[in-house]
Amino acid sequence: MNIFKLTKSKLLLGTMFSLALMPVLSSTAQAKDVKCDKITPITMFFHFRDRMAYNEDLPIVRYVEKQTCTKIVSLAPKYASKSLSVLNLHLASGHLADVIGIHNFKPIANKYGMQGAFMPLNNLIDKYAPHIKKVFAENPEAKIKASAADGNIYYLPYFTPPKLKVGRAYFIREDWLKKLHLPVPKTVAELEKTLIAFRDQDPNGNGRKDEVPYCGRHWQEAVRLVNLFGSRTSGSDYYFDFYVNKQHKIKYAFVEPKFKEAYKHVIKWYKDKLIDAEIFTRGKRSREILFSRNQCGMVHDWISSTTSFNNAMQKRVPGFKLIAINPPKGIDGSQYEEHSRELVRKDGWGMARSTKHPIEVIKFLDWFYSPEGSRTNNYGIPGVSYNMVNGQPKFTKKVLAMPAVQDYLYKMGAAAPLGYVMDANYELQMVSPEVRNIYTRYTKFLIDQYPGVAYNKAEQRLYDRAWTVVNSNTVPEYLQKWMLGTADIDKTWDEYIQKIKVTGFFKLLDETQEAYNRTYKK
Ligand code: CA
Repeated sequence: MNIFKLTKSKLLLGTMFSLALMPVLSSTAQAKDVKCDKITPITMFFHFRDRMAYNEDLPIVRYVEKQTCTKIVSLAPKYASKSLSVLNLHLASGHLADVIGIHNFKPIANKYGMQGAFMPLNNLIDKYAPHIKKVFAENPEAKIKASAADGNIYYLPYFTPPKLKVGRAYFIREDWLKKLHLPVPKTVAELEKTLIAFRDQDPNGNGRKDEVPYCGRHWQEAVRLVNLFGSRTSGSDYYFDFYVNKQHKIKYAFVEPKFKEAYKHVIKWYKDKLIDAEIFTRGKRSREILFSRNQCGMVHDWISSTTSFNNAMQKRVPGFKLIAINPPKGIDGSQYEEHSRELVRKDGWGMARSTKHPIEVIKFLDWFYSPEGSRTNNYGIPGVSYNMVNGQPKFTKKVLAMPAVQDYLYKMGAAAPLGYVMDANYELQMVSPEVRNIYTRYTKFLIDQYPGVAYNKAEQRLYDRAWTVVNSNTVPEYLQKWMLGTADIDKTWDEYIQKIKVTGFFKLLDETQEAYNRTYKK
C-alpha cells in the first residue's frame, strides 16, 4: 500500500525532526500509558495558519495517537502555504477526510454543512461526547454561536475562557517619553503631540530623523486609529468585521460617513509621517525589525508578545521599555479598546458526512475537550513541555525561559486552532506579572462584541458573494489608496460606495440584522 509506505517514511522524518526540536524528550515523561485494544485510523485534513498541517511530523500528533488509540493519516499537503486554498481543493475533490478543519472554519463548516458535506453533530455529541456536551451545557450561548441556521452543529470550536478577553493594548516607548520629558498621553490630542515629538526630537539619539512614531505588523492597526476619531473598524477579534451598537443594530464601519471623517485624520497622520510610511509593505516582522533598530515608538498589538520585547531588546537597545497606556480618549470623549477575544472562536474542526465510522470520530474529537486533551493542546506533552505540580499543569522552567513560548508550542503542534477549550492558566503562566496587570487594567475598556450569526442558505449565498468582494478587495483597496494618497477620499467616496452597493452588500447588512435577531432572539 502506497499510503502506508508514505506514512512510514514520514514518521521516520518526523521523529528525527522532533528529536532535534526537543532534546529533552526523555524518560521523565509522565504520559499516562493507554492500552489500545485496536487502533482506529482517522483520516485528517487540517491545515492551519497558512503554514502547518496537523500530521505525524508534529510531536503532539504522535502523542495524541497514543492517547486516543488512533492512527492519524493526514491528507493535507505538507508544504502548502495557503490553508484556505488547499481546503477548498479538498472540498471540491469529493473524497473527504474524516476530520476537516482550518483556522476560521465556522463559515466553511456552516456553508458546506448545510449543503451536506459535513456531519450534523448534535445527536453524536448527545450520545458519545460527554466532554463536549459539558462545555455546551456550561455555556448555553456558545451552543448558539456554534450552530448553523438549520440548528445543526457542523463544527467543534476553539473556546477562549471569559477570563481572558483582553488581547491587545496601546503600547508606547516609556524610555522615549522620559528622554523627551513627555507625560503619558491621555487623549488623542496629547497622543498626537507625543508622536510629533517622537518624529522631530530624535528620541533614539542617533542625530537622524529616522524615527517611526507609530508602527505595526498589520496595516489594519493603522486603520484602527479611527477609534480615536469617532469611528469603529470591527466588532470581533477579526479585522474589519461587522460590529453591533448599543441598540443591537449590526453595522459595518467602512460604509459610514463618520468613518470617512475619522479616516481623514488617520490619513493626515500618515501624510505627516506619524505612521510608518511602509506599513502596507513591511510585513509581519516589522515590529521586531523597527524595535531592534530602535526606530518605533508605539504599537497597538497583542499584550503578551509586545511586552516580551522589553526583555528581548535589552542587549540591542539598552533601556528599551514599552508600557501599555490606557486607550487615549478620542475626539468624541470616548475611551475604549475595540479588540477583544471571542468566547467561541471561528477556529475548529468538523466531521465529513461521508465518514465510515462517525462514532469513533466523535469520540476522538471529544477527547480534545477532556482534561487530558485540553492539557495536550494547552501545554504540550507531559514531561517535555510541562509537568503536573499539585494537580495543575505547569510549564517547565526551560519552556518558560524561552523567548517565544508560543512559537515553541506551535512547532510542537500544541495550541493549534482546533476544537478544544483554552485554559486561562496556559497563558497566565507564560506571561509576566506586568502582562497580567495589563489584562486586569484593560478589562474595563472592553466593549460588546459582534457575536457572529447563523445564516440560512440564501443569506449564506449572499454573504459568500458580497462579503469577500467588499471586505477582502474593495475596502482594503480603497483604504490603501486613500492612505497612500493615490486617490482622494472625498472625490472617490461615492464611486467606492457604488462598488460596494452593486455586490448586494447593503442587502447583506439587512439580512445579517435579521439573522442576528433570529439567532439571539432580539
Ligand atoms: Ca533619530
